[in-house]
Amino acid sequence: MRLNIIVLAKQVPDTRCVGQATMRADGTIDREALPVIINPDDMKALEQALRLKELHPESTIQVLTMGPSRAADVVRESLFRGADGGYLLSDNAFRGADTLATSYALATAIGKMGEYDIILCGRQTIDGETAQVGSQVAERLGIPQVTYAEEILHVREGHLTLKRHIDGGTEIVEVPLPLLVTVDSSAASCRPRHAKLLMTHKHTDIMAWNATDIKADITQCGIVGSPTRVKDIETIVPTKKESRVIGSSDEEIENLMVELFG
Ligand SMILES: Cc1cc2nc3c(=O)[nH]c(=O)nc-3n(C[C@H](O)[C@H](O)[C@H](O)COP(=O)(O)OP(=O)(O)OC[C@H]3O[C@@H](n4cnc5c(N)ncnc54)[C@H](O)[C@@H]3O)c2cc1C
Repeated sequence: MRLNIIVLAKQVPDTRCVGQATMRADGTIDREALPVIINPDDMKALEQALRLKELHPESTIQVLTMGPSRAADVVRESLFRGADGGYLLSDNAFRGADTLATSYALATAIGKMGEYDIILCGRQTIDGETAQVGSQVAERLGIPQVTYAEEILHVREGHLTLKRHIDGGTEIVEVPLPLLVTVDSSAASCRPRHAKLLMTHKHTDIMAWNATDIKADITQCGIVGSPTRVKDIETIVPTKKESRVIGSSDEEIENLMVELFG
């Protein structure tokens, strides 16, 4: 069976490196001062795609990323691990996109990429952290979505079966193709780069598309197409110690209940 798989992956600042030196006076992060990585959940989505390809070797994996020109590395890093190709969506018109405008650009580009069976993305990013983009892309494409996926089990007779992470356990669901899956952080980590693929692709040109290439409606892109407005940013400095150790005696628990709930 040949599956056309698309992985959505975003380049994000490595938030583990956020410190005093990377914060601006207004409370925003100086993104240029931080190293960039592929969003961790998106790496897990790529791993699920690679495992599917191992089960169905005729399949193809295309990676799509929207970002500045340096985000081409997202596609290249995916090629080093076994993806077949990918596209960088980059244009000044896409700058300042909120989730609505991001999902519009991604869904429009997917329309240009052609036939697909499975779209895999991360559950959420470590910078925007909204966990909205995957669901919005599915909605725009009019296909079913499964969120919090932990492991894709198999694809049979036009249906994909997967395990999803839910509170207190997991559940197995079966969904018809085509569909979009958001992969949870509890999924397996992505494999490392493959040395041979690294040598093959280290100078590979990554196909870049701009707004004209995907025939995007400019009024739905970037800051113009983003209804989100940041009204205020506040730095919250805790004034009291936020944790306390209490004993397990009835009296101490009773006192805590009174303190919390009156
Ligand atoms: C209030 C607010 C203000 C913001 N202000 C700014 C700002 O000033 N500057 C700025 O740069 N950003 C800003 N953002 C972030 C911007 O909206 C997001 O970068 C973008 O819309 C994607 O949302 P997300 O990062 O929350 O993705 P999520 O919804 O958490 O992502 C889910 C998944 O969708 C896929 N995905 C998401 N984005 C992409 C992408 N670009 N390419 C490919 N796949 C993708 C990935 O698979 C990802 O794991 C802001 C966000 C909010 C909520």
